Amino acid sequence: MTDKAKYIWTNGSIVEWDKAVVHVMTHAIHYGSGVFEGIKGYNTDNGVSIFRLSDHIDRLFESAAKYKMAIPYSHDEIFSACIDVVKKNNFTDCYIRPVAFYGYDTLGVDPKNCPVDVSVAAFFWGAYLGEDAINNGAKVKISEWKRFNSSSFPVSAKAAGQYMNSMLAVQDARANGYDEAILLNQDGNVAEGSGQNIFYIKDGKVYTNDKTASILMGITRDSILQFLPELGLESSIIDISVDDLLNADEVFFCGTASEITPVAEINDLKIGSGFAGELTLKLRKYYLDIVFGRNSLYSRWLTNIALSSQTSLQK
Ligand code: PMP
Repeated sequence: MTDKAKYIWTNGSIVEWDKAVVHVMTHAIHYGSGVFEGIKGYNTDNGVSIFRLSDHIDRLFESAAKYKMAIPYSHDEIFSACIDVVKKNNFTDCYIRPVAFYGYDTLGVDPKNCPVDVSVAAFFWGAYLGEDAINNGAKVKISEWKRFNSSSFPVSAKAAGQYMNSMLAVQDARANGYDEAILLNQDGNVAEGSGQNIFYIKDGKVYTNDKTASILMGITRDSILQFLPELGLESSIIDISVDDLLNADEVFFCGTASEITPVAEINDLKIGSGFAGELTLKLRKYYLDIVFGRNSLYSRWLTNIALSSQTSLQK
């Protein structure tokens, strides 16, 4: 069960966790008509720092725009709400979940009269795929559920209803004893995990795909692509086949919640050594050094809560 926090920001006010409720006739409950973000706060030496907060809020607004949903708050208001909810709960390490959705009015599929309700929750969320996956590598199944393409959904929107596709894939993987699923796209190439982007390493070079492969354009993915040169690593964006993954030296997932998680096996076949890859663990450490504020090259990505008024407009 999600660990309860004390307070949630909802439609402009901070309320007690248990009071942040909606009516069952809420449009989003019936049609999944919401957009959301997943953001992390880390306990750094300078207090709590939120990683790439402004970029996450930008993506929230981009997701809403793809659904013509008008969020009744500004970027800066949601930005401040994220900070306020972390502060009010006295959180250090935490996960932050802003959500904007069509509320309670009419039940027609067209949400024309429905209000857009907005909440921001913060709570504690440990290792997304478990500690074992971090230490020994995740065991993953290629899902028979394909990821939708851009002729059905705006693929790069982080929209609630779109996650029914991810849910089917991860439920099936878990029911069969795997930690996570990889979804292929409609072309039969690799798209991503149910809640993560995917990379592989072959002969010292790092590969991933992009939105042409029907993925969510992850902020962690973008961070990795930006810092790889610092580690002397070259990267390439390609269409990834299942064989590319199976023949890789290392494969890893990345995402805000999953951070960088090694993949040890796909469909019971070992990737490389069949353990967490050496370079993957090096990248994971580099990423954690950044989010925990130990790498001054990337301090621009951190919103230090104590200094929030000075950093609120930084990208
Ligand atoms: N793909 C999907 C489907 C996701 O849910 C996520 C998590 N938001 C990601 C990729 C990774 O995105 P990010 O790095 O921005 O968290």
